Amino acid sequence: MKTGAELYRGKAKTVYLTEDPKVLVMHYRDDTSAFDGVKVEKLARKGMVNNYFNAFIMNKLKEAGIATHFEKLLSAQESLVKRLDMIPVECVVRNIATGSLCRRLGVQDGLELKPTLFEFFLKNDELHDPMINDYHIRTFKWATDDEVAQMKELTFKVNTILQPLFLAAGMILVDYKLEFGRYDGKILLGDEFTPDGCRIWDVETKEKLDKDRFRKDLGNVIESYEIVAHRLGIEIPA
Ligand code: 5GP
Repeated sequence: MKTGAELYRGKAKTVYLTEDPKVLVMHYRDDTSAFDGVKVEKLARKGMVNNYFNAFIMNKLKEAGIATHFEKLLSAQESLVKRLDMIPVECVVRNIATGSLCRRLGVQDGLELKPTLFEFFLKNDELHDPMINDYHIRTFKWATDDEVAQMKELTFKVNTILQPLFLAAGMILVDYKLEFGRYDGKILLGDEFTPDGCRIWDVETKEKLDKDRFRKDLGNVIESYEIVAHRLGIEIPA
């Protein structure tokens, strides 16, 4: 697939047009960013590790019946994806309390959340991705009620697929963020699923193995991503 003009440059990925208007090339860069782009660093192997990680998870989700934008790996740092009309909201599911939930509500870090929590955030860096609810989405017409229902159902379904997958490999899927878009009248999972957008803890030690290592300056960021990948059986070139 010949890569065309740059369509969009995000904080960690660049998206390119192709000769087919229905598909895009997603390039995973080595850039790592946190706090809405305030902290940015290049970490060796990151683009490749996340590209392979995402491909593995997207394929697992596809096998389990979740429609995603992912088509195939193209190279170490590139994947081919369907071009979606993205819905500007982030869907977050939380199995364990941590991060912004604890800051906002003062609840104990590490608390098991039963039933599992779901939150919507508006995708807007300038506003620091504020939390929103179904009513904001309806009033501002970011998505229809049916799309809201589908996004919730799909985000929870991802939990039922991935929670046991991580647990079987000795890890807890603490929380994660998903983004969806429209394609031929359907809602598809878009963006990525990598340790950049989820939290993963070792089941025994509760050691953080995700982007919190970067956010909190814990070191060994990509080494930890690779440990997660290795435990899941994801093969990443040396
Ligand atoms: P929190 O709301 O606690 O900051 O994040 C909840 C979960 O969603 C975490 O797994 C976090 O990595 C993910 N998340 C929330 N917002 C973003 C975002 O803007 N970018 C990325 N990469 N992940 C996010």
